[in-house]
Parts: sequence; C-alpha cells; structure tokens
Amino acid sequence: GRSNAGKSSAINVLCNRRRLAFASRTPGRTQALNYFAVGPVDRAIAYLVDTPGYGYASAPLETKRTWDQLAGEYLSSRPQLAGTVLMADIRRKLTDLDRRLLAWVPDGVRLVVTLTKSDKLPRQQARQALRDVIDELEQLRPGADNKVLLFSALNRSGSDELTAVVENWIAVGLPASPKDSTNA
Ligand code: GDP
Repeated sequence: GRSNAGKSSAINVLCNRRRLAFASRTPGRTQALNYFAVGPVDRAIAYLVDTPGYGYASAPLETKRTWDQLAGEYLSSRPQLAGTVLMADIRRKLTDLDRRLLAWVPDGVRLVVTLTKSDKLPRQQARQALRDVIDELEQLRPGADNKVLLFSALNRSGSDELTAVVENWIAVGLPASPKDSTNA
C-alpha cells in the first residue's frame, strides 16, 4: 500500500512484535523488499514480503521507477506468490495508486484488501467503506478471490481475521495457475 497507510503497524500487530517492521517516514525503506520469515528463520514455511510503500509525492522519478521495477515485477511475476495483502487507509478507500498496484496483481493471485485505521471512523461509516471497496474490487477483478477486512493496529480489531486469511494461504499453498503446467 501507499506510504503512511499503516503497513508497518499492521505487520507488527500480525507478528506480535513492537519493532519488527520499522514505522518510517522516510523514502529510504521504499528501496527494498523486506522478507519476514514465518516459522524458524532457517526452516521458514513461508515469507511475508513487505513491498516498498509507494506514493511519496516528493519521491524523485527515479524512486518511482524503482518501485515499478521492484514491487511491480514482484507482484506480477513471482510464481511463489500465494496471495497479496493491500493495505489502504479506510478514510481514503482505494486511491489511483492502489488501482495501479492492483493492476500488477494477476487475477489468479488471491487478494485481501485491509482497510487500516478503522478506529478512525464510526462503525456505520466503516461498514459502508467496506461495502464500497468490495463493490469496486468486483469491478476491477471480477470473479477473482477478493476479500476485504476492517483492521486497526490501535485496537487490534481485524487482526484475527487477517491472520486467519494468511494462515489459510500458507496451509493450502499456491493457487492453481496456468503457469503450473509450463513451469513443471
Ligand atoms: P506505513 O508507512 O504504511 O508503514 O505506515 P505506519 O505503520 O508507519 O503508520 C503511519 C501512521 O499511521 C503512524 O502515525 C501510525 O501511528 C498511524 N497508524 C497506523 N495504524 C493505525 C491504526 O490502526 N489506527 C490509528 N489511529 N493510527 C494508525
């Protein structure tokens, strides 16, 4: 998701750690894919891969190109990718930058959009935002495996659901893909 969407805070909640992912204000962290091992580091059963945050208004063109090359290529052509989590601030819902990111994600890759900072909206408005995003995803990726969750790193709501979604991806493995036959 875009910078400031709450990605680091969410990863820290998911992993029950305070400082695993460094909340960062600087574009420095946009340069790398950050891998978090699930299970023992030397026998990881899966990795959470934090792609660079995007959308720094002030980022130089070069940095933006780096994002496309790194995160865009990763999302669009990584055969090991079991699913994608897109984090979006619930008050903004999906932005053009998010739509651009979604365009990189193949239809066969599972998606969960996590609407972060849900504590910032009254319950009714949060439910409406959830419905709006569900509707938009059905337009953008008709028939694909799309999920939308409300999430708050502040009060930890949604963290059990997000954990369950990711654990399920790990348990069932990679989605069936046309690539399977060519890569076999
Ligand atoms: P990142 O740039 O996407 O990694 O975003 P961060 O995790 O660094 O969060 C950006 C800002 O939003 C920080 O000031 C966080 O404290 C705040 N924030 C993140 N998650 C939540 C949340 O669930 N609720 C509220 N109220 N603030 C949050």
